[in-house]
Amino acid sequence: MIVTGASKGIGKGIARVFAGKGAKVLLAARDLAQAEAAAAEIRSAGGAASAVAADVSSPEDCTTMAAAAVERHGGIDIVCCNAGVFPAARLGEMTVADWDQVLDINLKGTFLTVNACLPALKARGMGRIIVTSSITGPITGYPGWSHYAASKAGQLGFVRTAALELAPHRITVNAVLPGNILTEGVEALGPEYIARMTSAIPQRRLGSVEDVAYAVLFLASDEAGFISGQTIVVDGGQVLPESNLALEDL
Ligand code: NAP
Repeated sequence: MIVTGASKGIGKGIARVFAGKGAKVLLAARDLAQAEAAAAEIRSAGGAASAVAADVSSPEDCTTMAAAAVERHGGIDIVCCNAGVFPAARLGEMTVADWDQVLDINLKGTFLTVNACLPALKARGMGRIIVTSSITGPITGYPGWSHYAASKAGQLGFVRTAALELAPHRITVNAVLPGNILTEGVEALGPEYIARMTSAIPQRRLGSVEDVAYAVLFLASDEAGFISGQTIVVDGGQVLPESNLALEDL
């Protein structure tokens, strides 16, 4: 299997959980040293993992990544399109370069990853593609993240049509929509952001990377073979309150 954006955060959690279940995992990220370190951690816990340097916004890198999985593992069965970035910029200040960077990595990167892995998935005669989207965009909004939200909502449009096109190949395509998950990327947003988000979540905690990984694990299972084009929200109930009052009343 391939997990993009696997050197840190949710992707690393997905890689660790799948390796714990016996999957051979190829961890992809731009920073090879970090991806190698994450793969080494998994190996030291008894899992099968290796790393590859790949920028998912590059078609060439995605081809190299897919070829590495085929060479090392004899094929590809599961692809987790998880790599993503979330820099903030409000409208009026957001540059075209800001917009392009986020769309190139989050949305085009999802297409390029799937596209590169498709021949190997089709050759296998079955497959699982799981995209890490977000609640931001498909369900909610957040100031500073209009480009990010567009990329994450765009991923769901991609998922639904890809699910249709790939159904005859017994390849399912689904998405997980995390709420606020405690990762390196979210920690970088600062303690104030984390405190405010914690108070906005009915469970009064941020999610763990494992919370997301186990939803991905289910979508990758044989038992989920009749589920395609769908989403699982993993957010501790964050999207549920109608208003702040509903939270205060808990
Ligand atoms: P993170 O801690 O910042 O980790 C991001 C990972 O993606 C790193 O491994 C990073 O490695 C990799 N990456 C970034 N750009 C890449 C590129 N162009 N090509 C390949 N790899 C790239 O982020 P995270 O919080 O785990 O988020 C992971 C995914 O979950 C993202 O798609 C994000 O939108 C989504 N998500 C996160 C949350 C949350 O609360 N954490 C909520 C909803 C959705 P390199 O920098 O070395 O490439």
